[in-house]
Amino acid sequence: MKNYYNLSEVNKIFLKKTITDLKKISKSGFYISASYVKKFEDNFAKYNGSKYSIAVANGFDALKLSLEAFKILKYCKAGDEVIVPANTYIATILAVSHSNLNPIFAEPEKKFFTLDPFEIEKRITKKTKVLIVTHLYGHLAQMDKIMSVAKKYNLRIIEDCSQAHGASFDNQKSGNFGDAGCFSLFPAKNLGALSDAGIITTNNKKVFKVLSSIRNYGEEIIKNGQEIIKNYGERKYKNIYKGFNSRMSEINASILNEKLKKLDHHNSLRVKKAQIYLKTIRNKLIILPNIKKNSLPVWHQFIILCKKRNLLKKILEKNGYPTRIIYPIPPHKQDAYKECSKLKLPITETIHRENLALPIERHHKIKDLKKIVILLNKFDGK
Ligand SMILES: *Cc1c(COP(=O)(O)O)cnc(C)c1O
Repeated sequence: MKNYYNLSEVNKIFLKKTITDLKKISKSGFYISASYVKKFEDNFAKYNGSKYSIAVANGFDALKLSLEAFKILKYCKAGDEVIVPANTYIATILAVSHSNLNPIFAEPEKKFFTLDPFEIEKRITKKTKVLIVTHLYGHLAQMDKIMSVAKKYNLRIIEDCSQAHGASFDNQKSGNFGDAGCFSLFPAKNLGALSDAGIITTNNKKVFKVLSSIRNYGEEIIKNGQEIIKNYGERKYKNIYKGFNSRMSEINASILNEKLKKLDHHNSLRVKKAQIYLKTIRNKLIILPNIKKNSLPVWHQFIILCKKRNLLKKILEKNGYPTRIIYPIPPHKQDAYKECSKLKLPITETIHRENLALPIERHHKIKDLKKIVILLNKFDGK
């Protein structure tokens, strides 16, 4: 088992169709935001049970544009506070900073890796307008309780679904709870393109309208409820917002359409592997991930906690099993967020100090997982 990721293995079953599509796309003369992208938006919205979806250039843009749309719609304004999970990937927080909003770090639940509803409530001030929930490692956060906190304080919710394509809570898929669901389609995600890509889901028509426009320089796309531009050959160059450039390529949409058909199957293979770990790892030195009631995770990562994490990693490596630390440094301890370094976030810091991601990708064979479990169960911390 050489590599933790092997994307060539993931994509090879789609290669033939991708090449056929590439020829068609090249001949068509339309390379961005045309028929394949449109089809992917329809397919993804349908798959996700969402009313609308908007294809964008990457996961960071999905978050950033959602916040910009919220500002345009006056859900918040520059200087307002946005509660974010302290233990998310830093992109979630950077999107807030780059929108001239203030990220307020909140701790995860001790038993899980997702936002603690009580910790959210503790941090609410008059300036709190938005809450970003990250469904980290493929598990949805405690959305029933989080939704009631949001309702009580009139907060808008953005879900960072970049690690939770297809995951659900109370039979509702990620990206349907708040006003925007932001998905990265970076190659290594559960649903990944051939380069950077992203998509936003929403059930809010106003958010949909603004996002459709600002991802394309703020051009007017929808007028009187009608889409007036079907592809960029028909552009009118009428700009209604100070927008951005964040569009999806046709070739990415083509492979994403194919991979979406297999997403549930491929997620189920991860679930199977996670079950093996959950059922067979037995070691007091290792803490296994918990699953919330009514939650169906898609195991973007399988994370264990261990006080002797570095030693354990070394032993697995020596035996030929690659692992990852996701992530080694919490955002508030990064040089990029020096101004936050004094914050006390003990649960977050423990997770970063003790986490280890075990192999769970397509190319990792069950027989190798079983050998990993033997090593884990033998581990005595020395
Ligand atoms: C991957 C990821 C992002 C960023 O997505 P990009 O497509 O790389 O911009 C944001 N948030 C989370 C939780 C992620 O895992």
